[in-house]
Amino acid sequence: MEVPKPKCLEKPLLVPSKLLMGPGPSNCPLRVYNAMKKPLLGHLHPEVLQIMDEIKEGLRYLFQTKADVVCCVSGTGHAGMEATIINLLEPNDIILVAQNGIWGERAAEMARRHGADVRVIEKPAGDVFSLEDVESALKEHNPAVLFMVQGESSTGALQPLEGVGSLCRRHGTILAADCVASLGGVPFFMDAWEIDVVYTGTQKVISAPPSLAPIAFSGRAMSKVRARKTPVRSFYFDIGWLANYWGCDGTPRKYHHTIPVSSVYALREALSLVCEEGLDSLWHRHHTCAQQLYQGLSALGLQCYIPDPVKRSPTVTTVTVPDGVDWMKVVRYFMSRYQVEISGGLGPTANKLWRIGLMGYNCTTENVDWVLRIMKEALENEKIKSNL
Ligand code: PMP
Repeated sequence: MEVPKPKCLEKPLLVPSKLLMGPGPSNCPLRVYNAMKKPLLGHLHPEVLQIMDEIKEGLRYLFQTKADVVCCVSGTGHAGMEATIINLLEPNDIILVAQNGIWGERAAEMARRHGADVRVIEKPAGDVFSLEDVESALKEHNPAVLFMVQGESSTGALQPLEGVGSLCRRHGTILAADCVASLGGVPFFMDAWEIDVVYTGTQKVISAPPSLAPIAFSGRAMSKVRARKTPVRSFYFDIGWLANYWGCDGTPRKYHHTIPVSSVYALREALSLVCEEGLDSLWHRHHTCAQQLYQGLSALGLQCYIPDPVKRSPTVTTVTVPDGVDWMKVVRYFMSRYQVEISGGLGPTANKLWRIGLMGYNCTTENVDWVLRIMKEALENEKIKSNL
């Protein structure tokens, strides 16, 4: 054989345990890990379809919607973003992207690749858009779609969404929201806030492994999809096919793709934990742990990157790196000494800050204390200073 067996695969698979306190993924509870050990079944077996139906109910609760089309794209948060854009937009449709960090940039880039007419409104990193900002941009651009990010994980900002939906309805605009880094950690009401498309990822507050992107389309969003003059330019992400496979359209379910069934079990179990705790309690836990983190950081002499606490997402806290401190050395200190992950900045915030995640299973007072203790120790360590 010209290509011999690789030696590396003779060694056993070794994966260390780490506490993931960055902006995602978060760790999974044991019940979720155990769910993945259940027997593999086929993607159209009645037991799997039943589990998918239960996931839909869990997602309706999480999204707070009674929409028919609630399902998952097989893929991570980016797949949810791409599915949103590719289904809603036809060539030359105008999309307005509210950009205040990397996720708006990514959505704008995807929309350009799909041939849309992309208009951007911008805010500096850490800031959010007011209803007045949105309204004047809707008047100016008259977009088919407005894209907003609820939890901008690159900056830690929390975009208020209440009121945006009704503005969009008045302007005949479809509102799409990225809730990958926020859903479950902060209140979100798809129907009450008149949001047309929402997607998230499984690896953040839901605390399942990365692999599926829960997504929901309102009746209004589905009418726009059905009125398309051109077919959706992706078969895999076609929401019509996905809605059928997930049993959302009232017609017999057809094979679309082989769903990653072990991930489906994990999501089913993670959603069952969400329901056991209840959304009110989940939101409250994220709020109180974030307050504890803010107080502890300030006791260490550190400043949150976003001065106004109301504009901060409790799921991702951004912390300004003080002068004379090398951010990377601190991140490495956390990992090498304690196998704890915190992250540096991303996109507009690269090299300026640390990002500390409090998400789902990992959002506990004990973990906040632990992160603060390591941070104190790191900052007291002379080798952390940037000039050493
Ligand atoms: N949107 C936001 C707000 C995110 O935080 C992320 C992941 N960090 C994504 C989209 C993309 O998700 P994924 O990495 O799972 O593709």
